[in-house]
Amino acid sequence: MLSKEKINALIASIDLNHQALREREHLLGWQADDPLHLSEAAHTIQQAQSDFIQQLDAHFASFPEAVQQLKTVANTESLQLKQAWDNQQLWQNIHNDDYIRQQLQVGLEYQSADLTPLWYLSTQRLYLDTMLKALCSEPRQIQQFSSLIKAVFLDMSLVLEGYCAAHKQQLKENQARFERTMYGANDGLWEWDIANDQLLLSSRWLEMLELSAEEFGSHNSGNWFARMHPEDLPLVRKALGKHLSGHSKFLDCEYRIRKKNGDYIWVLLRGFANKTQMGRQLLSGSQADIHERKEQQQNMTYAAFHDPLTGLANRRRLDQLLQDSMQRTQQAGTRETALLFIDLDNFKQVNDNYGHKSGDYLLIEIANRLQKCLRPGDHIARFGGDEFVVLLDDLACLKDAEHVAQRMLDSLSSALRINGYILSVSASIGITVLPHDTPASELLQAADLALYQAKMAGKAQFAHYTQDMQAAAQALQSKQAALTQGLSNQQFEVLYQPIYNLSQDSEQNSSSIYAVEALLRWHHDGHCYRPQNFLDLLEQSDEILAVGAWVLKSACAAVRQWQQSFMPQLHCSVNLSYKQLRSAHLVSLVKTALESSGLAASYLIIEIAENHLKPECSQSLANLRELSMMGIQIALDNFGMGHAPLGYLKRFPLDIIKVDKSLISHSLKDSLNKDIGQAIISLGHSLNLKVIAEGIESPYQLSFVKGRQCEFAQGYLLSDPLSAEQFTTLISSRS
Ligand code: C2E
Ligand code: MG
Repeated sequence: MLSKEKINALIASIDLNHQALREREHLLGWQADDPLHLSEAAHTIQQAQSDFIQQLDAHFASFPEAVQQLKTVANTESLQLKQAWDNQQLWQNIHNDDYIRQQLQVGLEYQSADLTPLWYLSTQRLYLDTMLKALCSEPRQIQQFSSLIKAVFLDMSLVLEGYCAAHKQQLKENQARFERTMYGANDGLWEWDIANDQLLLSSRWLEMLELSAEEFGSHNSGNWFARMHPEDLPLVRKALGKHLSGHSKFLDCEYRIRKKNGDYIWVLLRGFANKTQMGRQLLSGSQADIHERKEQQQNMTYAAFHDPLTGLANRRRLDQLLQDSMQRTQQAGTRETALLFIDLDNFKQVNDNYGHKSGDYLLIEIANRLQKCLRPGDHIARFGGDEFVVLLDDLACLKDAEHVAQRMLDSLSSALRINGYILSVSASIGITVLPHDTPASELLQAADLALYQAKMAGKAQFAHYTQDMQAAAQALQSKQAALTQGLSNQQFEVLYQPIYNLSQDSEQNSSSIYAVEALLRWHHDGHCYRPQNFLDLLEQSDEILAVGAWVLKSACAAVRQWQQSFMPQLHCSVNLSYKQLRSAHLVSLVKTALESSGLAASYLIIEIAENHLKPECSQSLANLRELSMMGIQIALDNFGMGHAPLGYLKRFPLDIIKVDKSLISHSLKDSLNKDIGQAIISLGHSLNLKVIAEGIESPYQLSFVKGRQCEFAQGYLLSDPLSAEQFTTLISSRS
């Protein structure tokens, strides 16, 4: 029996109300006396009714399959009786709702049994034929009319067939148009009849998977789900459940589905659940191929979390890994986790000597070697430059971290062949353990402190983080903070160490002072610090630029005063830091110091440490040339330490070399060193440079340099660095 809802839906869809029924009657020429005529004849056709049943029985006997089909759909055993009963209604002429419903049901039954209208027409033709014989008596006319009925019904069947075919064609075209549109949108269509587990799939849907309908197998959800990636299946099921239970307006999820060749592609599944007018629950929607976009997205995500050179995790990913690890360590029963901070010891030299390309290859090779030292579950990230961080999870004991660190050091110890060069590198490693409540940044800092310790202890080794390191780092930090306040707190002082002209007097006294070297001191917390204790910190914070400017200004002003009061020929020698030398403001800074003090440029000496001379820094070279052109003398400080190639002596605009004190002290030890000292002094002379011997501590050293015609000297033997007052006293006593 076809469901009541189905018929209601059908009535609603064809909008068959009373008004429509009246119009229908009108169109068929139904008159007011028609019911009368029929009811008058009703009693005469009783016998004909039962004749009809028999004839129908005989007629259908030649079409058993169709009849069986119709019986199943109409859920009845005796179609003939049913039909007769239906036709009997004709004579009663009650055109009400029940009548309409009943007639539509007949139509539905035929359609559901997949029988064309011809089948229905054939029963009605038989009925009319039977009734004709019952109502008329003239055999010839009966015969003629019977033939006419057959002809008309044949006509009707063909016309109706044409009508239905045209309708079907139109539906097909609409369907095809819809599919074309969806194809253009690259979307496949699907519809799932949930109760019957039937799946309708458009050709585009199948084509995306390079499958034919047969290759897909029977169209049910089982075959669909079987093609989903096992990792995505739970997700799709969840999204389906959410939508079907009304918790999401639309079904919307991305998943991977298997193609014919076994590859998976990413698709976007969209759908909407609805009930048809027939009451079936359907889930229908589209499926779009989003593989390319998804791959791009995945590539971008990969790029965001990985180092492009080595393919290792980057800092951002390391952050995530650290957070995960921290969370794990909070769980009971978790074993130890250690963080290793690795820094190559001599990577800069590789870059400088063999070029950046070789440096890059080296980093890739190092990354590979380090990675091979890890177990599955451990992580390695490139932290930046030549720094790597390793996260070791689930360690039985901390000794294991040491083993891994040692394995890494060993793996780096064998030389590498890169771009035809044989290179050897080593690394230093700082190790720390993950305590339960330390922020990630502090962990890295702790491992970094341990790394610093490993470097200080001689490189190519590992060191563990200890609390003392933290204390030392904090002390350093507060020292740095105090240093930045040094100028405003007037904690800096310039001392002046005389440089004597050895050629003027046999006895060195204030009259033979050629220059003073300005030497910086920092008074802090009751101590007087020498530059080696704070100069690096000043450099790191850039504070050196302000302090250096202050030294230059103070020294120029002081020397100018001494010139005016006591020694008109006194020279002022000032040390410059590497950052000052590279600064684009250096020349204007020097000019200002000279102008504000009134010191003539020719009385200023600028001292540049030998290791700060770098020809690749064009700004430094330009600065030195301009200062030299102004008449300022340039001195190469600490000469002989071996940092600068001899060629630099010609390349830079030098006036003076200051022979390093280590060379002077060594000169006395043996004859070879004596010869080296002698050679360096001679070298200066032959290049027409003034030579100052630094660090003269003993009369013997003094006589040695004097004997080598070195014309200038400086050292504790001659004078300590003096405060401005002390120096004033020294030179004022002479006048
Ligand atoms: P430097 O330019 O080589 O200065 C000479 C250093 O040797 C000074 O150390 C001085 O006190 C020390 N000295 C002098 N005579 C003797 C001696 O007979 N024996 C020994 N062993 N040492 C002697 P100081 O003052 O500690 O300065 C150290 C370094 O700090 C200087 O080396 C210079 O490179 C740097 N420096 C000093 N003041 C400044 C400054 O204002 N700016 C910059 N950028 N650097 C500075
Ligand atoms: Mg110096």
